[in-house]
Amino acid sequence: MRLLKTVLLSLLTLAQVALCAEDYYKVLGVDKQASERQIKSAYRQLSKKYHPDKNPNDPSAHDKFVQVSEAYEALSDAESRQIYDQYGHEGLKQRQQQGGGGGGHDPFDLFGRFFGGGGHFGNQPGQRRGHNVEVKVPISLRDFYNGRTTEFQWNKQEICEVCEGTGAADRVVHTCQACAGRGVRTVRQQLAPGMVTQVQMQCDACGGRGKAIKHRCSACGGERVVRKATTVSLTIQRGMADGTRIAYENEADASPDYVAGDLIVTLLEKEHPDLESEEDNPDRVDGVFFRRAGDDLLWREVLSLREALLGDWTRNLTHLDGHVVRLSRPRGQVIQPHHVETVVGEGMPKWHEDGDSVYHKTEYGNLFVEYVVVLPDQMESGMEKELWALFEKWRAKKGVDLHEDSGRPEKPVMRDQEHDEL
Ligand SMILES: [Zn+2]
Ligand SMILES: [Zn+2]
Repeated sequence: MRLLKTVLLSLLTLAQVALCAEDYYKVLGVDKQASERQIKSAYRQLSKKYHPDKNPNDPSAHDKFVQVSEAYEALSDAESRQIYDQYGHEGLKQRQQQGGGGGGHDPFDLFGRFFGGGGHFGNQPGQRRGHNVEVKVPISLRDFYNGRTTEFQWNKQEICEVCEGTGAADRVVHTCQACAGRGVRTVRQQLAPGMVTQVQMQCDACGGRGKAIKHRCSACGGERVVRKATTVSLTIQRGMADGTRIAYENEADASPDYVAGDLIVTLLEKEHPDLESEEDNPDRVDGVFFRRAGDDLLWREVLSLREALLGDWTRNLTHLDGHVVRLSRPRGQVIQPHHVETVVGEGMPKWHEDGDSVYHKTEYGNLFVEYVVVLPDQMESGMEKELWALFEKWRAKKGVDLHEDSGRPEKPVMRDQEHDEL
């Protein structure tokens, strides 16, 4: 802390000078209030984007890669970030000259601490690649409809930050003495009396790595990697299909021994939204009970006998974003049970790669409403009598007798009678 103070004092005069180099926050594309996690996430994305292995024909990518690495090192350490915020690039330079910590890492080393593979990605011969990791994330229909940026966590293997992936408390890796760094040892084996052969075996002192450490890192127990809950940001675009797979390049388990594989996230629609859950249905909309069929939505609306027969009713359905879809019939319009009404344009938004771009107008599928008619179980006897009388009166005048019109025999013919007649 005393060092920090002297650095700060000696820098007061320099405060206005340093403005020439690129602003570190701009390099990482974050604002000055960015959290540690946002800075880390920006580094992860940009360092992959500009890695020279991925841009073999673009020399400017290498410069950007180095810049991103510098910016991350400056801003990921609280003390150096504070100096940078107050005194800029000159401040950090002075701090390094006076022996202050931080900075000075090879950008490829830093990269390797995030993604493994010795800091390289390219298709170098013999370079190992870790397994892809599949994660399923449940998503509500509401989020598929409205789109949303959310987060999920998974237990990821990361390169130990404390020992920087060396496994050693002092971060120093020595050559294994047992095998002289070769990773294998030659052992003499007796096959039979008088017959001896030499066999090469993996060195058991170093596990074949050819390297050894003096004191194990206490954070990872010398394993060089740790598993911990890792938060991943997830953007669900409007109208994405159930089962959409999103690949996060090189974001699977990391290890110093291989390049991290891909994290593959599958979006799965939650089958039963929790009715009381604030998260699933904060506005208590009907829409969460819609069922999805591709770009279309299905809904069942219940009508009473009176409504189905006589009309004159209205329903206000609240859709997944809260807007109201009005269903209604004027008096005199009959609805048959299981009739399906098509409400054009009230289905799911159709997914489009341009998403919410102003140049792209979102199209929608349809909402299919099936009507279910519920007859009363019981009627008051007075009502029943009146209804009976009413129907009798109209049946006598011009009623239809379905039984008579069907052409079926008046008396039921039993099976055995049928046989007798034959
Ligand atoms: Zn460690
Ligand atoms: Zn060894």
